[in-house]
Amino acid sequence: MVNIENLKENQMPFQQKTALITGGSRGIGRAVALKLAALGANVAILYAGDEAAAAATVEAARAMGVQAAAHRCDVADHAATGEAAKQVVEQFGGVDILVNNAGITRDNLLLAMPEADFDRVLAVNLKGAYNLTAHLYRQFVRRRSGRIINIASVVGLMGNPGQANYAASKAGLIGFTKSIARELASRGVTCNAIAPGFIESDMTDVLPEAKREQLLGGIPMARLGAPEEVAGVVAFLAGPDAAYLTGQVISVDGGMCM
Ligand code: NAP
Repeated sequence: MVNIENLKENQMPFQQKTALITGGSRGIGRAVALKLAALGANVAILYAGDEAAAAATVEAARAMGVQAAAHRCDVADHAATGEAAKQVVEQFGGVDILVNNAGITRDNLLLAMPEADFDRVLAVNLKGAYNLTAHLYRQFVRRRSGRIINIASVVGLMGNPGQANYAASKAGLIGFTKSIARELASRGVTCNAIAPGFIESDMTDVLPEAKREQLLGGIPMARLGAPEEVAGVVAFLAGPDAAYLTGQVISVDGGMCM
């Protein structure tokens, strides 16, 4: 029997909830932080070095009437992420939604790719997600609820010449997502990944015009996506309508990978 009361829209599904978003100062992470804040969540962001951008995200979130904080922290650093996660839990009383979004590229054909660039991309994109998830694992289990959302990439599904390090990190993140989903499913915690295609951000602004044109040719919708179009899917995965959804990879890519 359908309960009509349950069908009424809850305009602020994340009130009293806290979201921790890595890489929340710019691009997709900023859009995610502001979307969740607009829906009532308190937000804590981690960022690498762009203090002004982090402060601007915090200010924009606070303007929506929620609590917000930023922590400068390299997600690849296990000890530093442990300290940051502890501070966020102390300040906000816990974390309900973890969005592992921080990511970098160091593109090159494999023959010309320095070992350090392979290691660094894996450390930030994959180990970064491990670090935050591991530090918050016990509190998620204790609370018997939680949402973990990992921002992967279509490149992790399709591969891309010149991005062996990035593709490996994102494919690894997808395997990580499915494993954590299986570990935590019985504890009321879901873990899903989003695989964005090409999204307007500082990361894609640096692409040469010829590469951009070539990429557009492979996108059925023939345009780049907006960070807000990824943020909307994060909000869905973090919200009540996605309660029975775990271990999935949702592509947000204008039809690029189907
Ligand atoms: P972006 O505009 O370059 O922003 C990257 C964010 O990550 C910034 O907030 C940055 O902090 C933070 N960050 C980078 N390294 C970090 C580190 N070591 N520790 C903590 N924070 C760090 O990137 P984006 O385009 O929004 O991408 C966000 C995520 O989506 C990434 O995982 C990326 O791989 C993925 N993605 C992006 C696209 C795309 O087309 N844009 C497509 C598929 C997947 P600072 O501001 O302090 O530097």
